[in-house]
Amino acid sequence: MFSKILIANRGEIAVRIIRTAKRLGIATVQVFSDADAASLAVEMADESVGIGPPPPGQSYLQIDRIVAAAKRTGAEAVHPGYGFLSERAEFARALAAEGIAFIGPNPRAIEAMGDKIESKRFAAEAGVSTVPGFPDVIAGVAHAVSIAERIGYPVMIKASAGGGGKGMRIAWTRREVEEGFPAAEAEAISSFGDGRIFIEKFIASPRHIEIQVLGDRHGNLVHLNERECSIQRRNQKVIEEAPSPFLDEATRAAMGAQAIALARAVDYDSAGTVEFIVDGERNFYFLEMNTRLQVEHPVTELTTGVDLVEQMIRVAAGERLALRQADLAPRGWAVESRVYAEDPYRGFVPSIGRLVRYRAPEGPAIRNDTGVREGDEISMFYDPMIAKLCTRGDTRAAAVEAMAEALDGFLIEGLRHNIPFLSAIMDQPRFREGRLSTAYIAEEFPEGFHGLPPTGRQLDLMTAAAVFMHRLQAARRANGNGVREDWVVVAGPAKRAIRAKADGGALDIALEGEGRVLRLDRVDWRPGQALFSGRLDGQGFTCQVAPAAEGFMVRCRAAAARVLVLTPRSAELHERLPVRQPADTSRLIVSPMPGLVVSIAAEPGREVKAGETVAVVEAMKMQNLIRAERDGVVRRVGPKPGDSVAADEVLVELV
Ligand code: ADP
Ligand code: ADP
Ligand code: MG
Repeated sequence: MFSKILIANRGEIAVRIIRTAKRLGIATVQVFSDADAASLAVEMADESVGIGPPPPGQSYLQIDRIVAAAKRTGAEAVHPGYGFLSERAEFARALAAEGIAFIGPNPRAIEAMGDKIESKRFAAEAGVSTVPGFPDVIAGVAHAVSIAERIGYPVMIKASAGGGGKGMRIAWTRREVEEGFPAAEAEAISSFGDGRIFIEKFIASPRHIEIQVLGDRHGNLVHLNERECSIQRRNQKVIEEAPSPFLDEATRAAMGAQAIALARAVDYDSAGTVEFIVDGERNFYFLEMNTRLQVEHPVTELTTGVDLVEQMIRVAAGERLALRQADLAPRGWAVESRVYAEDPYRGFVPSIGRLVRYRAPEGPAIRNDTGVREGDEISMFYDPMIAKLCTRGDTRAAAVEAMAEALDGFLIEGLRHNIPFLSAIMDQPRFREGRLSTAYIAEEFPEGFHGLPPTGRQLDLMTAAAVFMHRLQAARRANGNGVREDWVVVAGPAKRAIRAKADGGALDIALEGEGRVLRLDRVDWRPGQALFSGRLDGQGFTCQVAPAAEGFMVRCRAAAARVLVLTPRSAELHERLPVRQPADTSRLIVSPMPGLVVSIAAEPGREVKAGETVAVVEAMKMQNLIRAERDGVVRRVGPKPGDSVAADEVLVELV
């Protein structure tokens, strides 16, 4: 076994690898860019080596510097994590040339599977069913159109070197191929330095189900069942689970057998994932193989009890697999939510900044993988993932309920995050029933995400929390002279008169006119604390609270509202205050995120139609098409191609 390994990655996956290494008694070396010098991974590792400035091209993708760091520190092996150099055969070869082991598969397997076009040819030869299409390089727009028309719309335009959902466009029409092909190509060049594009059939509303495989250097291969990753946004996984609520034993066995056949065809000798899309009739089609540890591997670990990083280290050291297929049936259920630094209320634009407050939920059903701690920065240089929150349960229902509750207790302040959005999904009946598809988010949130209106119970929770907090403030001001009982509570659209009275350890809140009394007890909250938990009518809850102008902001799951607790007299005055109307901004087409303007297809006087692309802005390595939301005539164009723009900067003004 190795005595020291180097981690050629950062963030949560570096921390996760260090944990296992520590448990196995292996010393760790963490490389870091200037942006990560004070990171959790660096703090946890036994040694660390700086490898350059923040942009990945100048640090985490610098093969020479990482190999030199391994040599200098005497690391015998390198774990590449995911992303970065994890699927670069030349990295594995450069390490091998120095006698350093690569904790991943052999470089030939990486080459064969790392390229989507190559891997499809391989899969077809190994008898694996693949998505129908044209697995060869497309020469240009005209070629793209002729191939798309031969395959039949809709089609998927894809970067052969693609990953992370980048460099991919669906096209339903000839025009969308003409528009999508150059965009996918540009994105592929900027993200992967490789503009090769191919086209395959777009399978409508499939599920994404993948098989985890594990091999050793002695020809042994097992699979560790499936993960379902159908909840995606822009072809990027958001929520994953194991097992899949859709698979029967026969399909699981058939997919497992094909995954192993493909792995065997390339002498696969580490942890890897064979991804499939599955249609409504349980026909499955090979998508790609990821020759690395997968982001969502924890749900497999939680349902099989296998530590995949440990297995990867052992097989890289030459050990034989000690796992037998018969012992790997899934036990219980696990769900993972990717907590991202993005603003779900504003089209999911990335939101960078400092984690002013960060507290992850804890408990026996919870596993949270993260690379950050309170005070750390989520920077523009890397993936905006803050954490991977996982829960497990004996059944799917238990794991999902545990996730909903864990999300309630996840405190993140200082930047925008997608927890309200994740909470909304957990509460959806369709999600609870397991009726998933990769179109789930697009279908369930066709107008984007704008929060949900509070349910009756949530309105009660908001009322109770606000009354409790307000009474505490009032009691301080009253200096021991009793607090009034009658209040008017305005929570979102609801306005109700209440009488609040302490009774033993509980607070009874009588809802006048409704003939109900809410009983709040076991409150855990102090002024300044953002998590408010307690029991309402005997049922536990946690919601997030913050002081707001004249009241409190209270968020319960996906519902947020400002709650005012007023005296009856001030409630009357409040009624007479004018309501401010939001300004009409629909004639302004703004950049949803900071970025670089690639092109602008507008000039003063030109007519634009709703849905038409008026600009392309590149941000976080993605080309974002900015479309007009309504018909209009261009009055003014802000920036020129090549200009950088800020979030909300006006690109085009319509009349
Ligand atoms: P998984 O299938 O494990 O969920 P993803 O496809 O979401 O993995 O990608 C995992 C991470 O690696 C993401 O952060 C993504 O940005 C990054 N990534 C994936 N493929 C590449 C690639 N070829 N080049 C650079 N980064 C990549
Ligand atoms: P990446 O390397 O970015 O992970 P994949 O080929 O694995 O790219 O595709 C990512 C996601 O895009 C899939 O999980 C699926 O949701 C969607 N997708 C990819 N190809 C197709 C297709 N041909 N038809 C329908 N959906 C697809
Ligand atoms: Mg994929």
